Amino acid sequence: MNKFVYMFDEGNNKKELLGGKGANLAEMTRIGLPVPFGFTISTEACNTYYDTGKTISTEIELQVLEALNTLEEKTGKRLGDPEKPLLVSVRSGAVHSMPGMMDTVLNLGMNDETVEGMAKLTNNDRFAYDSYRRFIQMFSDVVLHIDGFYFEQLLEEIREGKGYHSDPEMTAEDWKEVINGYKDIVKRHTKRTFPEDPKEQLFLSISAVFDSWNNQRAIVYRRLQKIPGHLGTAVNIQSMVFGNMGNDSGTGVAFTRNPSTGEAKLYGEYLINAQGEDVVAGIRTPQPIATLQDEMPEVYQQFVETCHLLERHYQDMQDIEFTVERGELFILQTRTGKRTAQAAIRIAVELEEELIISKKEAILRVDPDQLNQLLHRRIDEAYVRKQLAKGLPASPGAATGQVVFDADEAERIANDKIKVILVRPETTPDDIHGIVASQATVTSRGGMTSHAAVVARGMGKPCICGCESIKIDLKLKQFKVGDTIVKQGDIITVDGSTGEIMLDEIPMIEPQLSDEFQLLLTWADEERLLGVRANADNPEDAKKAFEFGAGGIGLCRTEHMFMDAHRIPIVQDMILSETYEERKVSLTKLLPMQQEDFEGIFEAMQGQPVTIRLLDPPLHEFLPDKEELLVEVTKLQILDSNSKELNDKEQLLRKVRQLEELNPMLGHRGCRLGMIYPEIYIMQAKAIFYAIAKVIENGVDVKPEIMIPLVGHVNELKEMRQLVINAGMQVKEETGLEFDCLIGTMIEVPRAALTADQIAQEADFFSFGTNDLTQTTFGYSRDDAEGKFLQAYIENKVLPENPFSSLDQEGVGKLVETGVNLGKESNPRLKTGICGEHGGEKNSIQFCQDVGLDYISCSPYRVPLARLAAAQAAIKNEQKQCENELLQI
Ligand code: PEP
Ligand code: MG
Repeated sequence: MNKFVYMFDEGNNKKELLGGKGANLAEMTRIGLPVPFGFTISTEACNTYYDTGKTISTEIELQVLEALNTLEEKTGKRLGDPEKPLLVSVRSGAVHSMPGMMDTVLNLGMNDETVEGMAKLTNNDRFAYDSYRRFIQMFSDVVLHIDGFYFEQLLEEIREGKGYHSDPEMTAEDWKEVINGYKDIVKRHTKRTFPEDPKEQLFLSISAVFDSWNNQRAIVYRRLQKIPGHLGTAVNIQSMVFGNMGNDSGTGVAFTRNPSTGEAKLYGEYLINAQGEDVVAGIRTPQPIATLQDEMPEVYQQFVETCHLLERHYQDMQDIEFTVERGELFILQTRTGKRTAQAAIRIAVELEEELIISKKEAILRVDPDQLNQLLHRRIDEAYVRKQLAKGLPASPGAATGQVVFDADEAERIANDKIKVILVRPETTPDDIHGIVASQATVTSRGGMTSHAAVVARGMGKPCICGCESIKIDLKLKQFKVGDTIVKQGDIITVDGSTGEIMLDEIPMIEPQLSDEFQLLLTWADEERLLGVRANADNPEDAKKAFEFGAGGIGLCRTEHMFMDAHRIPIVQDMILSETYEERKVSLTKLLPMQQEDFEGIFEAMQGQPVTIRLLDPPLHEFLPDKEELLVEVTKLQILDSNSKELNDKEQLLRKVRQLEELNPMLGHRGCRLGMIYPEIYIMQAKAIFYAIAKVIENGVDVKPEIMIPLVGHVNELKEMRQLVINAGMQVKEETGLEFDCLIGTMIEVPRAALTADQIAQEADFFSFGTNDLTQTTFGYSRDDAEGKFLQAYIENKVLPENPFSSLDQEGVGKLVETGVNLGKESNPRLKTGICGEHGGEKNSIQFCQDVGLDYISCSPYRVPLARLAAAQAAIKNEQKQCENELLQI
């Protein structure tokens, strides 16, 4: 015989069998908590129900009846007994929590006889008849599928006919009238009388709960949460307790700690003389839990003790539902409470301090993804928002500023210390200076991984993308949302964590690492095996990275230094140069500027390693847009065909056309620039070496690393390495100073990974540039893929997720692993790291550790997250190892 039914006190608490709620009720019963008694019909019974064409088999029926007997004996009440009626709840309970998706029937067992018994027993007619009408209403909805509207309408008619404003004014006699009306409704709709036999009520309800596993809501929810459809739901039959039996009764919900702040203080609310649904309905305002101490001191004391017990038992903050029936406390449910990032950290640290969990467990308790909430400026939670529009939450944090529609203008206005928000249909690399100058960026097109989003996240600046409801008119310099027009200069506030745009300025809170957060991160640092560095291109970002605990810079992209408004004309002159000599003049002007930046970064990092990458993007990225230039030249040709301005612009246009590429991503970029224009790389290398010499003279320790991008063949690295060494020797001779500098490369194309053994012979380190490696492995151009087909691929499950956000371990990851293995075999001193965006994503971080990288590098604002994720990766591996060892014993 198969066992399908389990009493709460049978000692079985298997979640797969009993569902989450059933397992929980059994566990609470086992540890001696006051749980109303009952039994659980297993998930296997649900599957049998479906296998047998939606019928409850005799085997299951008999087991339910037997369990009912036991319940009746234990409570001293009987289902349908007019003297001492047992009333039960029939609730669904799946393995994975599916809140509100399936059905529940309360007060089951009520009929014309038992209602009178209840009235006598409780000495409260009103309560008994109110409970009865609630039962008829719920049963009719869940089991008989009669629209609740008919019942509500009738209740309203009767209530208003008597001149009442609310239900509590109804008397027992009034409820009797309602009950008669309800029964008529049932008869009209089902052509039979309301089932008065409690056993019939019970089995019909069990079937209805099983059926609700496959209602539309539940199916959609399972699809969203990736819950398998074959699991089935359990059904919990539990004797009812009533919080609405008078002023010595009540019901409520409480968290054992504050879920917003994490403070170790009971947090919750309750209602006297009420049932659970009254708390949720929000008709009466519940009382804060602390006042229960005055109203029912003994119950409060018992509840506090129960909370402690549950927290210690489950070793985490609990969210508890309780009912007080005539002064007696009952616990109806407990589960791990949801919480904010701030609360998650404080709770984890304090549970460790209270010796409830270990340091390792505390580290595992905080989801690194949640930390984003804390590392950016955010809107004061106390403020009630009035949303103007909503787009995709592309980069977290909040900002206020004047709306500006053009990158140049954004930079110009920001130079006057005015805060601006750049609003564009989309952004391109040409807009980078506008993004830098702005507090935040909003685009009406593009996704979470569009250019604006990636750049903004890298800078830790808020960004909203794909905000389609704003209609931008660049000519009129305004955008419209419905009838609201926002003009250039108007103030808006944006929340990149939610995607919301609001009018005017809104109060903000600055990000700070709380003491608990700092402490948790120091624990994480003790556990992690991976080094954590930051991608930072200027002294301010380097300082931020250092403050957030970065152990160095893993990627300094030097092209961002070229984008500065004062430098771009010199860079353009350099590009326009026709001869080597002309180019040298511009490079000589750029050198001290770059040197100054490098000095700032070295000083900020105080002796930590700093990896500087030589120029990477194709040169046309530093020139104006071809189309815009063409328009300007055409206009000038009409106005004045002999002007110098026209001549200059025509020359610029010729150069833009000359540098134009069909496939810039695969074109003349990376080390290919240094191979053809070695003087650019020589200037950069010298600027780095002069900066090293200067900071050494100032007594600051430096650990410089120079990185050659996009190497695909060892000969490229050989040549560029020599070029850097020569520049270094020259500076050493000039300054008379000695210093060391590692020279390495990025692994960004498959050929580099596949020939890593050869390349490692010329490299002191490898840094996996997984942004480009993902592009070149998939053969996707990121901007095109994300703008055109990638979203559809993800929605249709062609790809499990965006490979530019989370590393594609099977493909790109295989190349990383191959690169590390070949590289380390050929050069055992080789250091390896990652500097693509994946370096700040928790699953990719786990992978980086598993393939043996030495460090990860990510944007400064993701450094705390990466420290935590790296520690979690180390602890998880340790746990796995222990499990394997145990299996071998
Ligand atoms: C990369 O390709 O992963 C990388 C870090 O370089 P970039 O994003 O600057 O191309
Ligand atoms: Mg790259």
